[in-house]
Amino acid sequence: MTPLPPGSTIGILGDGQLGRMLALAAARLGFDAVVLSPDADGPASRVAARSWVADYTDPAALEELARAADVVTYEFENVPVAAVERLEALGATVLPGRRALAVAQDRVAEKTFMREHGLETVDFAPVDDSLSLAAALERIALPALLKTRREGYDGKGQVWIELAEAAEAAWAEIGGGPAILEARAPFVRELSVIAARGRDGSVAIYPAGENRHEGGILRETTAPARSAPELEARRIAETVLSRLGYVGVIGVELFELADGRLLVNEIAPRVHNTGHWTQDACQVDQFEQHVRAVAGWPLGPTQPHSAALMQNLIGEDAERWAELAADPSARLHLYAKREPRAGRKMGHVNRLQPRAAP
Ligand code: AMP
Repeated sequence: MTPLPPGSTIGILGDGQLGRMLALAAARLGFDAVVLSPDADGPASRVAARSWVADYTDPAALEELARAADVVTYEFENVPVAAVERLEALGATVLPGRRALAVAQDRVAEKTFMREHGLETVDFAPVDDSLSLAAALERIALPALLKTRREGYDGKGQVWIELAEAAEAAWAEIGGGPAILEARAPFVRELSVIAARGRDGSVAIYPAGENRHEGGILRETTAPARSAPELEARRIAETVLSRLGYVGVIGVELFELADGRLLVNEIAPRVHNTGHWTQDACQVDQFEQHVRAVAGWPLGPTQPHSAALMQNLIGEDAERWAELAADPSARLHLYAKREPRAGRKMGHVNRLQPRAAP
């Protein structure tokens, strides 16, 4: 396809920090970003050329977005598939496509997809009612993690089950809806790979990062991860990208086991928090890479010039902005969220260390 020329418009579904950083990267390449989201006054719309506050499935808003944007993308994986279908029916190109969204929105579909393509996951079983919960407990050794099938994020909608007798109560605790029971992954490290696929099928993959979570929420990423199984991580990312016919940046979260094997935990069909380190450690970061991919531009280099530690600023951490701004080793990124709530991602810092020549 012919690359979208500068001056074209990129539509973004979602008004969070990921959309903000996408819009800023788009602006740097001469594009305009426009945003559609049900939330008013979010981080992305305040740096966008134009925005609509409407439900994702609002027909009039989708029509305006389809008319304004030369390509539409999303910063949030729980955008309804129906919104994407409507945009496509209106003649818009939406990237990454519907398939990636549908697979990533349902933890059972996601793990089934991985297994069908020869990628390893933890053992799992779907839970829809008391009968399937009992069947799942027969198959999956305890302790096991019960998660909502849809719409979980940052560790929400998840509960550990230690004893079979506690399972019904645990299921009620996460809402009693469609769920998945996952075997415990005996991981030694959590890794993630940020990868991109262009409209011409070319692929670019950043080195894996090592992630540390607290209470289900990402605290920090160290990248490149020391002695990571890079070849295997790349193989997994390439398989997922090509089998989904994906265009754009994807985050693939992995569990590394003691024997070096990698299990796929989940995919995020969008730019990803564990890829924020690329903003300061790479020539082309994940946000520009995503814009390049969906605009049909050549993908940029992924080899970092520095090693990086990315630290999230969660809740009141961001009140330290003045101290961080005075710290010459910290590159500060703030999202301009109006309300600093506990557990809310307010910004991040990247700390760089020069890399020895390979
Ligand atoms: P998720 O929302 O699936 O990314 O889960 C959030 C975090 O919970 C992960 O980053 C892990 O730290 C932990 N976790 C999720 N699934 C499992 C599992 N099957 N076994 C052990 N830890 C898990």
